Amino acid sequence: MQMKIKTIADRYFGTNSYIIYEEQSGKCAVIDPAPHDVAEKVKELGFVPQFVLLTHGHFDHICGVDAFLAEYDVPVYIHEHDAEMLCDGFKNASALLMGRDVITDIMPKTLVDGEKISLGELCFDVVHTPGHTQGCVCYFLGDAVFTGDTLFAFDRGRTDLYGGSEQTIVESIQKLGPMLTGKTIYPGHGPTRKF
Ligand SMILES: [Zn+2]
Repeated sequence: MQMKIKTIADRYFGTNSYIIYEEQSGKCAVIDPAPHDVAEKVKELGFVPQFVLLTHGHFDHICGVDAFLAEYDVPVYIHEHDAEMLCDGFKNASALLMGRDVITDIMPKTLVDGEKISLGELCFDVVHTPGHTQGCVCYFLGDAVFTGDTLFAFDRGRTDLYGGSEQTIVESIQKLGPMLTGKTIYPGHGPTRKF
């Protein structure tokens, strides 16, 4: 089954949202709906959303979730350790970086390391990669890896916000290293990179 990826960069925070879709069925998943017009894009393209995946709980990755769910009532997945950040402006860094709370009161489905989430005939593998936050995950799908703010093309995520740990992110990236051979990463900000 053919998997395709569309990238939408949010113009305020530069956060990448990804729409992953099966070409034949039009079934899609959305990773980190940051821009408020992701639902419109999905509608334009004629896709049928099945769920939303969050790479972690920072405000700039979750700020479009409510707008998306207003159009599409689908489950939202986030690692169990970051679920608390959705409704807490201190923990999700919006109070600090935006000067106001950017929160949502949705009830997410929580994930743990090693879970698999099916999209039609495609399957996302969840790999827990804490360090940027406690509940950061990477989603592996075929040759693509959606790394959120754990790993960028030529850098890694900051660790000075709530739940961050320099030692832990180094361990996570060491764990990821051998898993990335031959894969292309799709980070939370900035360009992709093939390993
Ligand atoms: Zn972040």
